[in-house]
Amino acid sequence: MPVLVVGSIALDTVKTPFEEHADLLGGSASYCAVAASFFSAVNLVGVVGADFPAEHVAFFKSRGMDLAGLQVAEGRTFRWSGEYMLDMNVRETRSIALNVFEHFTPRLAAGYAESAFVLLGNIGPGLQNHVLDQMAGPRFVIADTMDLWIKVALDELMRLLGRVDMLILNDSEARLLTRETSLVKAGLLIQAMGPRFVAIKKGEHGCLLFGEGGDFFSCSAYPLEDVHDPTGAGDTFAGGLAGYLASTVSGEVTFGDLRKAVVHGSVLASFNVEMFSLERMRSLTQEDIAERYESFRLFSHFEVIP
Ligand code: AMP
Repeated sequence: MPVLVVGSIALDTVKTPFEEHADLLGGSASYCAVAASFFSAVNLVGVVGADFPAEHVAFFKSRGMDLAGLQVAEGRTFRWSGEYMLDMNVRETRSIALNVFEHFTPRLAAGYAESAFVLLGNIGPGLQNHVLDQMAGPRFVIADTMDLWIKVALDELMRLLGRVDMLILNDSEARLLTRETSLVKAGLLIQAMGPRFVAIKKGEHGCLLFGEGGDFFSCSAYPLEDVHDPTGAGDTFAGGLAGYLASTVSGEVTFGDLRKAVVHGSVLASFNVEMFSLERMRSLTQEDIAERYESFRLFSHFEVIP
């Protein structure tokens, strides 16, 4: 079952306390789509400029993605630059150049409207709503967002929340959206805004998953010794989660499905931060994923497993 993924496709410049790299493959849709492709087919919707390197398109193709929804527009690709502090949970955006993204209207290629699973990666909620307007009754819709949209496009975001099954956001965004300090209260308040399921990410500290009727799951992050570039960890988490659901769930998505999906998303994200950009995804194998999932299972369990 394919996942329709929409979001930004970018060339990023990333600075950490130890390294700086320019013009890397990035963008919410790139991370979401590549992560999802480890589990399911992907229909990609996005825009790049004429300067977008052919090698990145070849990489998407090598992951088996359907690229009929990838527009190539006149002009330059969206660019983003960010800098991480010594505490890599803290990041500052240094610059953004919208470029071809400024006039982007997501268009669904033939057959995309019937996709059962939809992942609305981080882009303006107006564009996310526009994608949903074109869909023919998807089974499960997941949306990601960021602080910028909570600040500048709250009405569109609230309209979106009434139409999605699940919202994924980070802790500071959850607090900004609800004006609540407690993340548990924030999760419940966001559910009251529309989505049946909410995942609140806490960077290197894992995530909280809220379901219906008080269902709750706390997932730690995989403890890594070295994080080289946290960029796209959240998008990779969302993509892994969506791809896992699309590949395993044929009926209604249950809370049990989502618990496993959240762990698969966390596993994918833990690999992605080991190298800059999407580099780690190039060599990642199904065996790597299965092995890390198993060690995740063992160290998360609080009873002795024989
Ligand atoms: P994350 O680390 O999960 O927040 O995602 C980082 C990615 O988001 C980078 O690769 C950026 O290119 C992309 N990004 C940053 N700002 C925006 C924005 N305003 N709209 C869409 N994508 C963005």
